[in-house]
Parts: sequence; C-alpha cells; structure tokens
Amino acid sequence: MSFLHLEVPVNNTSLIFKAKNKAIQDNIQELFQELIKITNECPYLDLTYKYNGSSGNWDKSDDQYWIDWKCHDCSKSWTTSQDYSWDLTTKVYPQARRIF
Ligand SMILES: [Zn+2]
Repeated sequence: MSFLHLEVPVNNTSLIFKAKNKAIQDNIQELFQELIKITNECPYLDLTYKYNGSSGNWDKSDDQYWIDWKCHDCSKSWTTSQDYSWDLTTKVYPQARRIF
C-alpha cells in the first residue's frame, strides 16, 4: 500500500498552516512594535502605584519590598524598589495616584 496519495494533501495542509502562522506572527510583531511606540509616547497621565512586599521570610534578608506601577492609558506596568528611587520617581510622575 502506498501513502503517496496522502502526502500531497498533508503537505498542502502543512503549507497552509505555515503560511497562516507566518501571517499571524508578522501581525503580532507589527502590533507589538506599535504597542512599544505608544507606551514610549504615553505621558502616563492615568498612573497608579502600589506598595508591595514579600515579608515574613525565615531569613529576613530574603524579605523584599517594591512598588508596582501601572499606566491605565497604555497598559504599561513596571516595578521600582522602595529605596531612594521612590523620591525620584514621584518627581518624574507627580500625577501618580497611590492605591492600596
Ligand atoms: Zn501610559
């Protein structure tokens, strides 16, 4: 029995999925670049920050404290430490609102 007759449709199906996958991946790349562009241009007007931490570790040196930032205009989020960079960051983003 020969499977030769099956190879053509399987191969075509494979090529179709490869082409669809590539088209989607290309779109994702393009949209991702646009997303990076708008987050770089955004003035972060609707910005919130929240103190977070991991405390109570057996070894206190494992405890960590940070601030989570989120811009609700462009969805960018980032984290800073709770050290002196905090003062600097509030000067850069005086419009930021603290959430609990
Ligand atoms: Zn933003």
